[in-house]
Amino acid sequence: MTALPLVFAAPRRARPPRHLADLGPAERRAAVVEFGEPAYRSRQLSHHYFGRLSADPAGMTDVPAAVRERLAGAFLPELLTAVREVSCDGELTRKTVWRGFDGTLFESVLMRYPDRVTLCVSSQAGCGMACPFCATGQQGLTRNLSTAEIVEQVVAGARALTRDEPAGEVARRVSHVVFMGMGEPLANYPRVLAAVRRLTDPAPDGLGLSQRHVTVSTVGLVPGIDRLAAEGLQVTLAVSLHAPDDELRDTLVPVNTRWKVAEVLAAAWRYADVTGRRVSIEYALIRDVNDQPWRADLLGRLVRGRLAHVNLIPLNPTPGSDWDASPKAAQRAFVGRLRAHGVPTTVRDTRGREIDGACGQLAALEG
Ligand code: SAH
Repeated sequence: MTALPLVFAAPRRARPPRHLADLGPAERRAAVVEFGEPAYRSRQLSHHYFGRLSADPAGMTDVPAAVRERLAGAFLPELLTAVREVSCDGELTRKTVWRGFDGTLFESVLMRYPDRVTLCVSSQAGCGMACPFCATGQQGLTRNLSTAEIVEQVVAGARALTRDEPAGEVARRVSHVVFMGMGEPLANYPRVLAAVRRLTDPAPDGLGLSQRHVTVSTVGLVPGIDRLAAEGLQVTLAVSLHAPDDELRDTLVPVNTRWKVAEVLAAAWRYADVTGRRVSIEYALIRDVNDQPWRADLLGRLVRGRLAHVNLIPLNPTPGSDWDASPKAAQRAFVGRLRAHGVPTTVRDTRGREIDGACGQLAALEG
């Protein structure tokens, strides 16, 4: 018999296998019943996964031995494989390159501080927003990540914290999650929102993080911002502005040709009004591109008096780009002008530049 031609090989599955973390509490109960087990098993499974961070059937001693394996197989499939881990800052910053069920690569970055641990997650593999200064934007979009693929990045980070013993004083629990990895979270809205719920629902339904410690960062998809504002959540919104004028922003953040600076900021202020949360305006400082004093003044006039602060990010270098971070003096002058307008301004303490793990550097290259 001759080998089957390739066209008969199993088709590529379009979606990752279903996972407990894809489902809300009511959906979990329904799925467990459909599977043939009593509804209360969904709470047991949730306790093991979200509470104990475990997907190992051996430890599920409250579930009859005969059903443990089958349940875990059906609801806790392994979705992510770590292909590469790189650290810097003496193990305080660690980037993981993940491979999904279909070979798709994406990344997350764990950052440890004395008083908190921040996990930077990807919401998509690649990104369709095409910002020219961002390495992810240069790749285009591969696909949306599923809710569970997003949650698993956090669970994996939380598990790692229980194993590692870094030197010095560091926090031991994931306290903050930022959707600042690969992808545009509001372009993958339903899955990102469900992931936010899984992260912030109290145990055993979810991981029990504070909503205020979750940040969703966007290029400025106005309908998505309004939708998020209406969810009744207390999550932090970050808007990647990068230019206060449409002429420049059209080139730095191409989606600006669809929603202009004024529309994006109006949506940000609506978000602040509805939620009472201070919005973060992100601005990567690029030498001689967007760091002129007049742009600082224009930005200051746009933001002053609003429930907002500006977070400046010295540009991180990306392959093939001639752009560079603004010199320290220009950065200081920019900060000074914004503060003179009364705008609270911070400069991001960027982590992970040496491991291509900093903002805008995530390209999921296997190396
Ligand atoms: N798509 C979302 C989420 C990505 S967050 C967004 O754009 O907000 C990543 C943050 O890092 C964004 O503020 C992005 O504009 C910024 N960034 C991208 N490339 C960068 C670079 N090379 N240096 C510094 N910041 C960068």
